[in-house]
Amino acid sequence: VMASMAHLQKEKLRLQEELLELQEKLAARENSELSLSLQLQGQVETLKEKLLEQAQEISRLRSELGGTDAEKHRDLLAAENERLRQEMKACEAELRELRRQQQAPCHDCPHLQENAELQEQLSQLQREAEETRAKLAELDLEVQQKTNRLAEVELRLKDSLAERAEEEERLSRRLRDSQETIASLKSQPQQIKYIIKTVEVESTKAKQALCETQSRNQYLQEQVGMQKQVLKEMEQQLQSSQKTEAQLRAQIMMYEAELERAHGQMLEEMNRAIEEAFSRAQVEMKAVHENLAGVRTNLLTLQPALRTLTHDYNSLKRQVRDFPLLLQETLRSARAEISQAIEEVHSTNRELLRKYRRELQLRKKCHNELVRLKGNIRVFGRVRPITKEDGEGPEAANAVTFDADDDAVLHLLHKGKQVSFELDKVFPPQASQEEVFQEVQALVTSCIDGYNVCIFAYGQTGAGKTYTMEGTAANPGINQRALQLLFSEVRGKAADWDYAITVSAAEIYNEALRDLLGKEPQEKLEIKLCPDGSGQLYVPGLTEFRVQSVEDINKVFEFGHVKRVTECTNLNEHSSRSHALLIVTVRGLDRSTGLRTTGKLNLVDLAGSERVGRSGAEGSRLREAQHINKSLSALGDVIYALRSRQGHVPFRNSKLTYLLQDSLSGDSKTLMMVQVSPAEKNTSETLCSLKFAERVRSVELGPVSRKAELSSWASQEHLEGDSPGSAAPHGRGHASPSPGQLSSRSASIRRKLHSSG
Ligand code: ADP
Ligand code: MG
Repeated sequence: VMASMAHLQKEKLRLQEELLELQEKLAARENSELSLSLQLQGQVETLKEKLLEQAQEISRLRSELGGTDAEKHRDLLAAENERLRQEMKACEAELRELRRQQQAPCHDCPHLQENAELQEQLSQLQREAEETRAKLAELDLEVQQKTNRLAEVELRLKDSLAERAEEEERLSRRLRDSQETIASLKSQPQQIKYIIKTVEVESTKAKQALCETQSRNQYLQEQVGMQKQVLKEMEQQLQSSQKTEAQLRAQIMMYEAELERAHGQMLEEMNRAIEEAFSRAQVEMKAVHENLAGVRTNLLTLQPALRTLTHDYNSLKRQVRDFPLLLQETLRSARAEISQAIEEVHSTNRELLRKYRRELQLRKKCHNELVRLKGNIRVFGRVRPITKEDGEGPEAANAVTFDADDDAVLHLLHKGKQVSFELDKVFPPQASQEEVFQEVQALVTSCIDGYNVCIFAYGQTGAGKTYTMEGTAANPGINQRALQLLFSEVRGKAADWDYAITVSAAEIYNEALRDLLGKEPQEKLEIKLCPDGSGQLYVPGLTEFRVQSVEDINKVFEFGHVKRVTECTNLNEHSSRSHALLIVTVRGLDRSTGLRTTGKLNLVDLAGSERVGRSGAEGSRLREAQHINKSLSALGDVIYALRSRQGHVPFRNSKLTYLLQDSLSGDSKTLMMVQVSPAEKNTSETLCSLKFAERVRSVELGPVSRKAELSSWASQEHLEGDSPGSAAPHGRGHASPSPGQLSSRSASIRRKLHSSG
């Protein structure tokens, strides 16, 4: 449809172009015809001028001719008029012919206008002729009148001539008579003279008559002379008028010749102009005809194209008309398909989600299984290097050695006897903070998956607990590294998950819980059950800071540290007798599934585990020692109960275990980092710590009855044991095996795990 539309458009454009071309040609033709008509008009104008000149000439001649030759002149003019009329008729006929020729091929040819103009001129000429005719009639009348007057004059002239002839006759007769008388008298001259004399003398009467006759004769002679004079004058007049007539006739002839010549010239010019115009018009017409023919052929060729275009257009129109329906239909079906597809996608999504959840569950289960196999509770040992504080001499000698092949084994030379311990991992003094953290980070990240994690630093004061947990500014410990790791992990999962990380810092001193970040550090906080019935514990009033960067953590640590410093007179001493907790909570929301997770990471720098002899302790120091002992024993008991899957776990025996209940039970993971000093002088404390570690670690699933046996050892040891050698479990040969036995047993378990996994 689009293609045919485009084709139609193109055709239409081409046609328009052709049309424009033709219009241009027509305009050019019109221009040329206009110029032609202008030329013709000019010619007609000049002819008209000439005609006017001729008419003026005629009128001038007419006035010159006067009355006598008026008739002839009139005849002449009439003849001329007739001739002109004939010519006019001929011209009219020619014009008619021309018009007919012009009218036939083209209807709005500019020649028509020309013709009309010519006709108008013709009619004007006719009007002029009419006027001339009227003037001629007037002249005729004048001529008639003059002729009449002339006849009258002639008549009178005849009369006077007759009278004169008569008079002459009479006079001649009398003259003859007189002459006869005279002749007769001559024959008798004297007589006559005498007679005459006699007559004269004698006849007075005759004399009187003679006188009368003589006077009469005189008069008559005078009359005759006058008449002769008149005649002569008239003859002269006649002669002069004849001369003038001849002159005028010659002039008329000349003018006529001139007129004829001019007329001929005019006719010739007119003919030439008409012929020229006609030929030009013919040529033009021919060209127009040719063009017309071309256009016609073009039109003829275009007609089929137009037909096909129209056809295409109609079909397109039909299609366009039908298009909305088709579109609706298509849209409907598409919508149905889309909704079906969406439905399918939805169901697939549901299925996937279900599978994903199942996988997640499975993964969690596997992870748990793995952790369970590895041990939910793991015990690491870290030996700090010998420092200046250890002093010099044999007391500062190194008492700890390591197994080159097994990084879980450590040997302690105590009182000349080497005791070996096997833990999950042992870090020698040269182990860096980073290496230590490497082993810890898996635990930390499981926090993001919603697991609760506890990392304890256990050991005598000065064994490196704080160093491991907090570290130094240049070489930070687990706390800061864990948070950094959490930040980067959370960033990595930001595409699907929203995470919020909050931090709280607390301290347990003499079984009292205090907020290290709160406004009232002295205030003792209570641990309470969540009112939502979830069985979760929470500490009302414990300050939580949302942290998003290392800077935030540093600020928080700084804040807590400053608090602790200002609160205590001797921080070292205080910190060695209190448990410091950093509680990191990671709350996550899976945007796609709406799944929420909460994981808690408890980083605990425990109070110093060194035993305080009953005898050597008094007052507050004893109370502190009792509290520390109680809480560390409770921790040992809880871990034991958890590892041996006992129904009852004595979380409530101390604030610490109670607070960490959530983070110790269930899927939670616990790491006990047992810090030891390698110095010779600390070997008995080192031995105690390692024993604690090994015992915690080597707890195995077994009969519940073992709980009682084991649950008592810690408290006994912490309170009663004053030397490693006299440690109650050992001395009394309790269920707990000796280090050596434990070692081999653990090894066998590990081998089993290895072979199975
Ligand atoms: P605690 O907190 O157990 O009382 P500290 O962490 O304060 O012990 O450590 C006591 C001293 O030993 C500190 O000066 C500390 O810098 C140093 N120290 C502890 N562990 C190490 C270690 N792994 N490497 C270097 N120095 C250490
Ligand atoms: Mg410390």
